[in-house]
Amino acid sequence: MFETLSDRLDKVFTGLRGKGRLTDADIDATAREIRIALLEADVALPVVRAFIASVKERARGAEVSGALNPAQQVIKVVNEELVGILGGETRRLRYAKQAPTVIMLAGLQGSGKTTLAGKLGRWLKEQGHTPLLVACDLQRPNAVNQLSIVAGQAGVDVYAPEPGNGVGDPIRVAADSVEHARRTMHDVVVVDTAGRLGIDAELMAQAAGIRDAVQPDETLFVVDAMIGQDAVNTATAFQEGVGFSGVVLTKLDGDARGGAALSVRYVTGQPIMFASTGEKLTDFDVFHPERMASRILG
Ligand code: GDP
Repeated sequence: MFETLSDRLDKVFTGLRGKGRLTDADIDATAREIRIALLEADVALPVVRAFIASVKERARGAEVSGALNPAQQVIKVVNEELVGILGGETRRLRYAKQAPTVIMLAGLQGSGKTTLAGKLGRWLKEQGHTPLLVACDLQRPNAVNQLSIVAGQAGVDVYAPEPGNGVGDPIRVAADSVEHARRTMHDVVVVDTAGRLGIDAELMAQAAGIRDAVQPDETLFVVDAMIGQDAVNTATAFQEGVGFSGVVLTKLDGDARGGAALSVRYVTGQPIMFASTGEKLTDFDVFHPERMASRILG
């Protein structure tokens, strides 16, 4: 991911290297190049506009400093703006004052929710917690089974309706799971919910029902970075339909151009909290805006 964007930005900076000082025309030309690079990377237009306006203003106002040549100054500004657009500081999980902490996962089908439940389970266990993964995706026939498998791999417990008990009511399962967690001393509940291939009203209503039943401490919107521009529309729909407190980007190991990663925080105002970079449970980490910006700038 980000290869094209990194290459293009690198070319922009290379073009500035020989210059002694930057004129307004140089800054305008540079801003144009950066704009093209971001648009090609599928970054959403409002984000590109805000980014460019900020870079221009700061590059113009930059003191001619002895320590940095113009190219380095522009790189510094772009780096800081990238960190800003990615959310600035790393946002940590908020735990409930009184256990259990409830984390609800929401997103489209195939975005990687069930896999993420396993990853989070493993990660939480490593941090000394005793998580309980809850199967509320009762739509997809194999989802309960899949959650049990990842829970087994992560070495954490799972709460699911008994097989053969009919389709079941996900809202009730979610509510019961929190009671169950309290009785069984699980201190974090991770609720996996159903997703559809596209946004639909029934799905949103169900997710909102689960939200009301469990009152999550964190609702994480899970989004596949590969869906590019659609990530922003999907995020907006989930924000209106369910609401969320954080974003998890999945499939960052793919060859997506990176626009989703660079747009979602700005458009929704909610922080990217975790990143998934593969199918294995270990392909997962807390999201660090600074590290991501460094990766983009190479
Ligand atoms: P759900 O429908 O939202 O529960 O999505 P799943 O967890 O079933 O994931 C859908 C597919 O994406 C599965 O084949 C996962 O193995 C795969 N997947 C999930 N996260 C990642 C990731 O970070 N990188 C890659 N390459 N594949 C992933």
